[in-house]
Amino acid sequence: MADIKIPENVQDVIIIGGGPAGLTAGLYAARADQKALLIEGNTTVSQITITDMIENYPGIPEISGFELHDRFRKQAVGFGLDIKSAQVQSVEKAVLGDVEGWKVTADGTEYLTLTVIVATGAEWRALGVPGEQEFLGKGISYCATCDGPFYRNRRVAVVGGGDTAVQEALFLTKFAEKVTIIHRRDRLRAAGILQKRAIANEKIDFAWNSTVETILGSEFVTGVKLKNVTQPNEYHEIDAEGVFIFIGLNPITDFIKGVVNLDEGGYIIVDRDMKTSAGGIFACGDCIVKTLRQVITACGDGATAAHEAELYADELKGQAY
Ligand code: NAP
Repeated sequence: MADIKIPENVQDVIIIGGGPAGLTAGLYAARADQKALLIEGNTTVSQITITDMIENYPGIPEISGFELHDRFRKQAVGFGLDIKSAQVQSVEKAVLGDVEGWKVTADGTEYLTLTVIVATGAEWRALGVPGEQEFLGKGISYCATCDGPFYRNRRVAVVGGGDTAVQEALFLTKFAEKVTIIHRRDRLRAAGILQKRAIANEKIDFAWNSTVETILGSEFVTGVKLKNVTQPNEYHEIDAEGVFIFIGLNPITDFIKGVVNLDEGGYIIVDRDMKTSAGGIFACGDCIVKTLRQVITACGDGATAAHEAELYADELKGQAY
């Protein structure tokens, strides 16, 4: 075996992100006896933790997102995964003794590693309309699980037509008197089963072909001014004390721009083994280019990324089998 020197303080793998993809990668890496560190954001939360109910994770018919995330975390820590809370600022090439690896800088501290797994996920997209910023926390929300209970017997609006908007609208019917789904087209994007449930729910109505022009209110939100996209200059207002915005996601990849190839939306381009364009950097979960963003696919990606990172690190250490 080649006598390759690598300093003691170098990790086999650093995983960036503590959602389902990152924690699964961490679980696999720790269980494979890799020197693994997971750095989870201290200001961002994984989407799973604010998901009310997950019913499509095989083997577990119904579980809250928070509970499932907690189980993932405990299982990974049980295998010895080291988890730190910090914001990662950069990932740069570094010479590590006889090999080339990576330097990860998080909150000013530098960590050295043979491989990196990026599992930073994505964050909610803002509408960018007048009143959205001004009424944040005063009627504007991006989290139904967090804020839904404040709207007991009140009218709320949900903006968006995807899985998240419809799922969260259904959740909000537990509290609200009426939930209006505002969608810019005349057809939902959400999965069929969610569409059927929403259409059958008497508390839900729809503002089709409508975009939000302005959030209305003085101290708190009182309503929404809508524009009918099929008719020129046709506007109307609806009453709502809460406006929940679920219009998709932006990947959290700014810190890795220029290091790995991204697509035009900022998602990381990977091959089927979760390899990015940079040797030793892998990516998984919601931050990569893919069609199905679910907990189960994030976990699958995470397992693959950890396995591939292990093979890569073993190769560098001259331990490839
Ligand atoms: P999404 O699937 O990208 O849907 C975003 C929705 O917002 C679309 O209906 C879109 O309209 C609308 N939209 C986008 N920009 C808008 C704008 N500026 N103004 C008004 N409307 C706008 O996002 P998502 O629902 O957050 O879901 C993200 C991913 O997570 C998806 O892959 C989804 O399948 C997955 N997910 C799955 C589940 C589940 O399986 N239970 C639950 C939650 C999320 P158009 O339809 O016209 O494009």
